[in-house]
Amino acid sequence: MLDLHVHLLGHLDREATPENIGEFLDRAQALGLKQIGFADHDTYWENLNFELIRKRAKDYPQLQVRVGLEVDYREGKEEEINKMINSYPFDYIIGSVHQIGDWCFDFSEEEPKHWQWEADDLYRAYFRLVEKAAASGLFDIIGHLDLIKIYKVRPRTDVRVLAARALEAVKDCDLVLEINTNGRYKPVQEFYPEYKLVELASRMEILFTLGSDAHAAPYVGRDIKEACQWLNELGVKKIVGFKERRMEKFDLQDV
Ligand SMILES: [Zn+2]
Ligand SMILES: [Zn+2]
Repeated sequence: MLDLHVHLLGHLDREATPENIGEFLDRAQALGLKQIGFADHDTYWENLNFELIRKRAKDYPQLQVRVGLEVDYREGKEEEINKMINSYPFDYIIGSVHQIGDWCFDFSEEEPKHWQWEADDLYRAYFRLVEKAAASGLFDIIGHLDLIKIYKVRPRTDVRVLAARALEAVKDCDLVLEINTNGRYKPVQEFYPEYKLVELASRMEILFTLGSDAHAAPYVGRDIKEACQWLNELGVKKIVGFKERRMEKFDLQDV
């Protein structure tokens, strides 16, 4: 098993200390994870301490500890983002869409606004940005592909149709899709992306990685086994980790 999406700093309610890092790594070790990747939000840049993670990782020789970043894709800010991600030797970069224009749509106080949209328009506006993020060439992984469903607004059109171009961009640009288990603990109560999108992506031969989106150590690896079962059912054979921005493929049976 692997978990490439954990937030050491949580929602900035914690600092990067050897103790905090140790809690995450202890949990990963107890679960028998093969690889764990820290991917804090780029918006917390000032508080991040990548070298401390690398240093602490030396105390866990049996764990592959990776340092990544979850970057908020902002249209028109590609150059800025590029500079940031090239300023440190990351193992991987997750590109995520959390905002449409200036609207940070996944904050809980923003839920009422979701219902003011025509649902298909909301999905189209969101997936247009995911497609741009995927095509930007900035990222290795696309995070929580269908995050826009978070408050359970469902489109009238089949979500596979609405997501098609974003998935094509993921495929064409050799990006990896994560199954992010955290959606189960949001109002929508299901993984990102939902099963039929995972199925479609697997038919397109898009590669997958796994992430719990844990914002605290006890949630590391949560439901990752179940995500592996989905992939097994769909006949997926390989799962992808990263090192120095290069893919590392593992047999799904072994992880
Ligand atoms: Zn995110
Ligand atoms: Zn996250």
